[in-house]
Parts: sequence; structure tokens; C-alpha cells
Amino acid sequence: MRAPRAVPREGLPGRVTVYEVGPRDGLQNEPAVVPAAVKAAFIARLAAAGLRVIEATSFVRPDWVPQLADAEQVIGGLDLAGEVRYPVLVPNMRGLARCLDLGVRDIAIFGSATETFARRNLNRGVAAAVEMFEPVVARARGEGARVRAYLSMCFGDPWEGDVPIGQVVTVGRRLLDLGCEQLSLGDTIGVATPGHVAALLAAFAEAGIGAGRLAVHFHDTYGQALANTLAALECGVTVVDASAGGIGGCPFAGSATGNLATEDLVWMLHGLGIDTGIDLAALVEASDWMARQLGRPAPSRVVQALAPKE
Ligand code: MG
Repeated sequence: MRAPRAVPREGLPGRVTVYEVGPRDGLQNEPAVVPAAVKAAFIARLAAAGLRVIEATSFVRPDWVPQLADAEQVIGGLDLAGEVRYPVLVPNMRGLARCLDLGVRDIAIFGSATETFARRNLNRGVAAAVEMFEPVVARARGEGARVRAYLSMCFGDPWEGDVPIGQVVTVGRRLLDLGCEQLSLGDTIGVATPGHVAALLAAFAEAGIGAGRLAVHFHDTYGQALANTLAALECGVTVVDASAGGIGGCPFAGSATGNLATEDLVWMLHGLGIDTGIDLAALVEASDWMARQLGRPAPSRVVQALAPKE
């Protein structure tokens, strides 16, 4: 079998947008530094497989993330005026200015639901981080750019443990209030379970933030990513983040599985009769090709099942 049998289930969206994060979130967390030309070829293969939103790179400090030090080169090779969107992660005004100069009009910022992770990842507390992003979002919007906000540690934090749902909603709302069009709820350490997902989405709905403004970003560290995705779809979410091949281990869990694999997600979505516009066979080929560049098998179960064996 090369594709799942489509058996629709009531109460789910008819179409889901897969927000591909492999070239950024995936490669950023790989030990190897991949040449810009390989990244460009990977991105081109993903676009050819039908992905329509591909987060291409990030303008974080090259001494912190050497894997993405070639951001300008990667962006230079993209068709920014075509039908595929290529968002770029920006940490601050400087990164934004570089992006805008290159013609990027689709950016993402990243906040944290917890104080500890905000201080570790952004070097300041939650409130100060929101303040730091305020002029970034304002300028981006002023230039006609779309802005997505990531929110990390929505379901648990390795230092703080449980993260209160109310706290996640409060910080998420502040990011949206800056003018971000979408908030991606991240389970950075992969500890969420489906009831928790439904409870968090219900709390956002109660706060007046509907599923239409939310995306989910699950990690498969504990094998829960697809179950959590299904719970989110049942709550009306129609944008799901995933990484082609499942590349990018979770930086806080050693060698444990990180990002939800795009192929595993697409298999489930197509099995549910949900339209994605993605050619699963072409996607598997792209991830298998990338796995060969990285010199190790793709973590994705679907890639392992479908990619040609040596
Ligand atoms: Mg991730």
C-alpha cells in the first residue's frame, strides 16, 4: 500500500494547511550543517510535492545557530512572489530589517509561555520579550508582511514542570494583540496529551480566540503528536506544523524524536479524507533524499515504510 484508504470522519475540517518547518526547525536542530545549495534543493522538492507554506530559515545569530548562518543565501534562491509562502523566523528588529531588504513579507516571531524558557531562549522574561517584539510586528505589518507568532512550552516546561492553561492563553493573547495573524501553540518537549490539547483550545475559545487564528506545533517525543493533532482538528484547528521526514530532534530530550513528521501527518489526514494538496509519494521522495544528505534514516514512520530500501 502506497497511500491510506480515505475513510472520512464527521466533525473534522475538509482541508488542512500543512505548515512545513523542516528547512528551519528541522535543520536548525540537526547536528550537521547542511550546505545552502542542499537546503535550496530540499525546499524546491518540498514545494514540488505540493507544500504551500515552507518556513525557509531564520535570522537568529549565526554564532548561536550555525546551521542557519546561510539565511541570506537560502532566501536569495526563493521565488518570493510565487504561490508558495516562505516564512522566515526573525528574533529582533535587525533580523527583520535584513528580511525586508531581501523582499521577505512573511515572517514569524517566537515567544515563550514560561519565564524560564523566555530567559534561556530570548535572554529576557515573558513581558520583556513581548515588548521586544512589539516594534518588530509593527514594522513588519507596516511593510505589508504577514506575521505568525510561535508560543513555546504551551503544555509543559522542562524547568518549571506544569504550565497553567491560563498563563498560556494570557501570553498567547498578548502576542496576537501585537498584530500577529496566527499563533502556533508549541509542545516544545512533546508532553501534551489529547485532553490537554482540547482543554487549552477550549480556554482560547472562551477568551475569544477561535481556532481560525491558531495553529498547532506538536513534537513526537512521547509518541503523542498525531493523537494531539486529531484532538486539535476536532476543535476546529486547520493549520498544523510538521517537519518533512521528522527531522530535527528535540533539543531538550537528547536523541529523542522531535518534530511531528509531515509524512505521518499527511498519511493520517488523507486517511481521514482531508484535502492537503500534497503528493505523499513526492514528499516521501524529498525526505528520503534529504535523509541521504544527512547520512541517517528519516525518523518518519511513513518514510521508513514507503522509501525504497537499499
Ligand atoms: Mg519544533
